[in-house]
Amino acid sequence: MLVVDGDADNRELHRDSFTLEGWAVTEAVDGREALVHALTSKPWVVVTELRLPLIDGVALCEILRKDRATEAVPILVVTSETRPVELARAERAGASALLIKPSTPDIIVAEMKRLVEATSNAAAFPAVRTPPVPSGRRSLVKAHRRLSTTTPDEPPVRLSCPICSQPLKYQETFIGGVSSHHPERWDYYACVRCGSFQYRHRTRKLRQLSQ
Ligand SMILES: [Zn+2]
Repeated sequence: MLVVDGDADNRELHRDSFTLEGWAVTEAVDGREALVHALTSKPWVVVTELRLPLIDGVALCEILRKDRATEAVPILVVTSETRPVELARAERAGASALLIKPSTPDIIVAEMKRLVEATSNAAAFPAVRTPPVPSGRRSLVKAHRRLSTTTPDEPPVRLSCPICSQPLKYQETFIGGVSSHHPERWDYYACVRCGSFQYRHRTRKLRQLSQ
């Protein structure tokens, strides 16, 4: 599968959750790189941001839909773009489904599975039916807890909005990561004025997701 996002943290978040599903992930940082990957080795599904350098997500959808090799590949847009006009453009350009950030990895994975199952030539994508999880890793993967919760074991930290300094309102926690040895936790917050934020525990970095 192909993941296209200009933000390294977003790519890592996608990569972690997709790797856990047993899917081989190729990453691209902009639309041009994504096209090179997609047209040289056809992905069974593409997950892309709309806001991309060089070739944006809408143009990427258009080009993939015009090429015979990729015309039927499901394209899931996961974007910080919220303007209805832009989202409608993406749909017209051929996006199969759209999710607005922040979207938890569980929702993204479920949407991808739904899309690929819904694709008429789903038989062409055996990776979905039998994910190539190495047998040695299976127990580790199974044992690793991944969940969304609003009552995490360790309470969420108190944070202020980096833009307007108002206290941020805690909303939800996602616990994931590649394995139990490398747990990850992301807390989602909202500011009434400035939109949603994501706090990553490992790096203690707070970032704005949408306005
Ligand atoms: Zn604010």
